[in-house]
Amino acid sequence: MKVLVIGTGAREHALCRSLSQDPAVSELHCAPGNAGIARVAALHPVDQLDGAAVTALARELGADLVVVGPEAPLVAGVAEPLRAAGIPVFGPGKEAAQLEGSKAFAKDVMAAAGVPTARSYVCTTPEEAAAALDAFGAPYVVKDDGLAAGKGVVVTEDRAAALEHAAACERVVIEEYLDGPEVSLFAITDGTTVLPLVPAQDFKRALDGDRGPNTGGMGAYSPLPWAPEGLVAEVLESVLQPTVDELRHRGTPFSGLLYAGLALTSRGTRVIEFNARFGDPETQVVLARLRTPLAGVLLAAADGTLGELEPLRWSEEAAVTVVMASEGYPASPRTGDPIEGLDAAEADGASVLHAGTRSGPAGEVLTAGGRVLSVTAVGADLAEARAKAYAGVAEISFKGAQHRTDIAAAAAGQQLP
Ligand code: AMP
Repeated sequence: MKVLVIGTGAREHALCRSLSQDPAVSELHCAPGNAGIARVAALHPVDQLDGAAVTALARELGADLVVVGPEAPLVAGVAEPLRAAGIPVFGPGKEAAQLEGSKAFAKDVMAAAGVPTARSYVCTTPEEAAAALDAFGAPYVVKDDGLAAGKGVVVTEDRAAALEHAAACERVVIEEYLDGPEVSLFAITDGTTVLPLVPAQDFKRALDGDRGPNTGGMGAYSPLPWAPEGLVAEVLESVLQPTVDELRHRGTPFSGLLYAGLALTSRGTRVIEFNARFGDPETQVVLARLRTPLAGVLLAAADGTLGELEPLRWSEEAAVTVVMASEGYPASPRTGDPIEGLDAAEADGASVLHAGTRSGPAGEVLTAGGRVLSVTAVGADLAEARAKAYAGVAEISFKGAQHRTDIAAAAAGQQLP
């Protein structure tokens, strides 16, 4: 099978790494990719938002499957021309991708499907925003309606800051605050059959102790020893299947990866958000535990045969990933610095997935984005996986590098996160 992966981040590196280990994959390509992905796939400099260019590349390569990693190309409609050309594609079409592209659309789908989520108002004026904030009270939750690379959400006790964020966005969703630990649950779907993966937890805030600004994600782990038994079955029945059914009934079936961001509140499980693609960095730990070869699973989702697949097989091991980010991330990341110690980290048993990197003129690896690397390790339990991941981080250096030191710490100590 010839596979083309679209995207540039550590999620795509994790996908490419798993695909490269699948004996069914004869050729692996990535567009545009990064310096780490270049080690396992042939890179192609294509604009990932340009559906015609991506389709032309897939045709030229004779790709049997195209896997679209990030949300931006999905929301831009890159899947449509591929499907029109008869090329199997893993990832939803433009309309179903609105589940992530518009928070207001996601709320509408959830209401229609009876999926439990925070009560909310969609606001377009300062007056509406003020009324909605006062209806719920503090802590305030204000979400940009459109795509914001994980940075469009402000959760604050400060009413003025909440109003300011609302004013800076064209349209916002203001909703009730959900307390309780968060869980990311991914499911692979062909639009009818829904196959949940193992749960993971990510760390959205920049600094230890969940302080600092929201980011794209600073680390993740799986499994969740503290999660209630039966969580996956419950979420499949109350969230994932009804959402997939609702979109199919609307005539815009969702195939690809449905990501449910959940809060386990005192009043039950609630959806915080949906995403229309693999989450980054949770993918790094989920795929580290998947034993079933990946390509066949993604192809079955793309061609509508997921119902015929054997149950997925999982490792009992634990996985932890720690994101190394550049100085100034998330506000104004510095780039262009050489990265040292990559091979030493891998020799220590960590798997270094590249996020924002590029190759320099002399073959050196340079920082090229806010999140630079995702250092991943597996172990018999979370404590061991965590120790191995941080040993890898300790080997790596670049100017101004920052990372959280508490990824999976509470869970490894068997405490609630
Ligand atoms: P989102 O982009 O919707 O995932 O939001 C980013 C982060 O903001 C989430 O992972 C939560 O930590 C937080 N958040 C979003 N919505 C809520 C909510 N209703 N109550 C509490 N925290 C929230």
